[in-house]
Amino acid sequence: MLLRADWTPFIKRRAAELGFMACGISKAEFLEDEAPRLENWLRHGMNGRMAYMENHFDMRLDPRRLVDGAKSVISLLLNYYPAPEDQQPADTLQISKYAYGRDYHFVIKDKLKTLLADMQAEIGDIGGRCFVDSAPVLDRAWAKKSGLGWVGKNTNLITPGSGSFYFIAELIVDVELDYDGAIRDYCGTCTKCLDACPTQAITEPYVVDGSKCISYFTIELKDQIPTEVGGQLGNWVFGCDICQDVCPWNRFAKPHQEPQFQAHPDLKNLTPGDWREITHELFTELFRQSAVKRTGYAGLTRNIAFVSNPPEL
Ligand code: SF4
Ligand code: SF4
Repeated sequence: MLLRADWTPFIKRRAAELGFMACGISKAEFLEDEAPRLENWLRHGMNGRMAYMENHFDMRLDPRRLVDGAKSVISLLLNYYPAPEDQQPADTLQISKYAYGRDYHFVIKDKLKTLLADMQAEIGDIGGRCFVDSAPVLDRAWAKKSGLGWVGKNTNLITPGSGSFYFIAELIVDVELDYDGAIRDYCGTCTKCLDACPTQAITEPYVVDGSKCISYFTIELKDQIPTEVGGQLGNWVFGCDICQDVCPWNRFAKPHQEPQFQAHPDLKNLTPGDWREITHELFTELFRQSAVKRTGYAGLTRNIAFVSNPPEL
């Protein structure tokens, strides 16, 4: 068994060995700064029809309400930035880079479970729960508090030297560890993300109206896409990377090393015509284990039809 002083270094070393890009730790406590921000965002209906965002309000601000005896929140980043040669060319229909490979929920859950099991083997009888992009946990707020980056004007977490193309996950555990501190904001006077957003979803610096975001229209919305946004979705048929692609900090993004995030080799060769004719069989083949399955074949073809023939206003 490890000495108390060695617990935190052990966790960070194991996290790196499991392929996580960074690991930061915070005391599990009420997120005081986030409470008014979350309340305001919900009050203005910026969650659109994502009703799940309104649930568990108290739980989302205090992990001790979520996990019995919670003492520490361990935040972990996993890079998904595809190598340039694996990215789709700009002149075809686009899916968000995070959805190229195997659904991150499965990939990360496996790694988190391994990390927790290793902690239990080396540290002792630890209780904990794993969270991946899970509504009750404000993952950006925890990662920020743990010094893994700052929350930029596009509301993504940005890490100096790495950018923002990564997933954030948490392990909430019932032992005290050594805690990290936040870093400063390096957005400065830049407004590239605000200027580039085609739907003006970034309504002011640090505020994204989720109900105006292309990710919402192409993934979350189950009904018809409103005609008012005809022509504004560009080539995006699943998610949108624009406010990350234009962020100068993503010049530092390095290709991921996770084989499970590798796209199907045919994805980057699809022309706009191929997309318009995509069959159910090809959809299943290309996105067998990808998060794109969230929209289903019907949802993706709805999006393809919408961006290919945008309604006239
Ligand atoms: S993801 Fe796209 S639509 Fe959403 S805020 Fe960023 S640029 Fe705007
Ligand atoms: S594009 Fe500029 S303003 Fe937007 S998040 Fe990046 S650095 Fe900040």
